[in-house]
Amino acid sequence: MDLRIPTEIEKELGLYREFISKRLLPNLAGWYAEKQIPRDFFLELGTRGWLGLTAEGGQIREQNPLQTALMLEHLGTISPGTGVAVLAHVSLGAQGIVLFGNQEQRDRYLPLASRGETLVCLGNTEPGAGSDVAAVAATATKVDGGWIINGVKSYVTNGAISDLALVTAVSDPAAERNSRISMFLVDLTAKGITRTKLHKEVWIPSDLTRIKFEEVFVPEADLIGERGRGLQQVLEIFTNSRITIAALTLGTAEGAFLAGVEHAKKRRAFGKKVIEFQAKAFEIADFYSKIEATRLLLWKTCWEKELGADFRLSASIAKYLSVETARATGQWAADVFGAASVIFEHPVHKYPMDAWASSLGEGTQDVQKLIIFREFMRRGMA
Ligand SMILES: Cc1cc2nc3c(=O)[nH]c(=O)nc-3n(C[C@H](O)[C@H](O)[C@H](O)COP(=O)(O)OP(=O)(O)OC[C@H]3O[C@@H](n4cnc5c(N)ncnc54)[C@H](O)[C@@H]3O)c2cc1C
Repeated sequence: MDLRIPTEIEKELGLYREFISKRLLPNLAGWYAEKQIPRDFFLELGTRGWLGLTAEGGQIREQNPLQTALMLEHLGTISPGTGVAVLAHVSLGAQGIVLFGNQEQRDRYLPLASRGETLVCLGNTEPGAGSDVAAVAATATKVDGGWIINGVKSYVTNGAISDLALVTAVSDPAAERNSRISMFLVDLTAKGITRTKLHKEVWIPSDLTRIKFEEVFVPEADLIGERGRGLQQVLEIFTNSRITIAALTLGTAEGAFLAGVEHAKKRRAFGKKVIEFQAKAFEIADFYSKIEATRLLLWKTCWEKELGADFRLSASIAKYLSVETARATGQWAADVFGAASVIFEHPVHKYPMDAWASSLGEGTQDVQKLIIFREFMRRGMA
């Protein structure tokens, strides 16, 4: 395994960082206050080929997983809330069409999604179905030419700004638990849809939205993947997006860490700089080591995905470690800033909050441990 970043990715990253510092940094406070990311931002990323996919000559090409991870990590250092909005479109919504869409659906939706002209979100979680994904209760009833969807998706990132939502619903209630659910692509402007933006204090400026479906008609052509395979499909999407959420969360840890170190270098107490206390030096060494260990696991996962190998175990370990690291580092950085860290607008305030949010997306820490244990046993490692 070669741990050098390939030159072409390094070059692209340089352009990306430059774009982010010019386009995001000066506007972030405004987006934060409005709690909204302008659609133009996605268009600008899409035009440059930075939304995880490119569509050239009728061919859809997925971006190298390491490049996607490095880009999200960078966004995470500055604004995990902006990063998660990009992630929700690239790794949850569009990813579902990449993995399970038929040729006609890929041709119809992916060029638009790759350019950021169409945004796609994923609605799976319901009031009664979170970690237990199979407990989904929304229904899809077969009618002439399509399906009628009823139900509520309680927490949808980008639900307010997206055009389309990938939605899981029970299409075959009499079937067994793992073949009752199907996946549909729903036009969010369709009759019968109500969207309610929720008030949250994590991952600002992305939106978290409840979507209610009342007698919403979805044409047969928008059934995604196989009827009855919705559970397996959504779990597969989560396996893939664990790589990007781990990258975003690694960025969250790094952003907090660097802010804390910078502050410790300047802040004086008891006649010296805070960084000169040996207790702080040890903490810095500890967090730096944890960040490096998380990065290596993440890169290993990207490498496995690129090779076409099974990355389920590494993706869950990377997600698990990234959250543990970001939670501890975010808390540490807030401590280094003292009282200033409790102020909502202070740049360091977001890191512990966003690390908390990361612990929920794509499965809680308990869910990651369940997967790690199952994979460990399945592979006969003991
Ligand atoms: C900011 C944010 C954005 C989100 N965006 C989306 C989105 O875009 N689309 C979407 O569909 N969902 C989204 N979610 C929902 C998220 O995926 C769920 O919150 C998550 O899956 C956990 O489900 P839950 O909240 O219902 O918790 P629950 O499943 O009710 O879990 C409650 C507690 O029980 C524990 N637990 C559950 N099962 C087990 C077990 N078997 N063993 C041990 N402990 C267990 C959990 O770890 C947790 O601590 C988002 C959530 C947040 C906070």
